[in-house]
Amino acid sequence: MKHTQACPTCSGTGFARGEDGIDDICPRCNGKGSITFTSRDKVFESSFMKIVLFCVLFLIVFYSLFAISISIFSLNFTLEIIILFIGHAALATILISYLMLKALSGDKSIA
Ligand SMILES: [Zn+2]
Repeated sequence: MKHTQACPTCSGTGFARGEDGIDDICPRCNGKGSITFTSRDKVFESSFMKIVLFCVLFLIVFYSLFAISISIFSLNFTLEIIILFIGHAALATILISYLMLKALSGDKSIA
């Protein structure tokens, strides 16, 4: 997820006029004429790690509760499948809504 934008300092030319009036390589983009936003990449990576961590924790808790409920209530096979399905559907719903919220807040920060 890279965001490249024409450098506002040199207007994408790669050269900026210094204080001495001589065109020099733009210090902001180092003569590339474009800027790549790496900060958003870092934000994405950290939130991605949070999502992975959340998934792992959720599944550990979910399967623990699932194993406990099987041993206590001696559920039948159909009910076990239903509970497993609901658990994963809940996880998917949480993840999708989290990603949608992230995408919405990300769009706001750009503007
Ligand atoms: Zn520049």
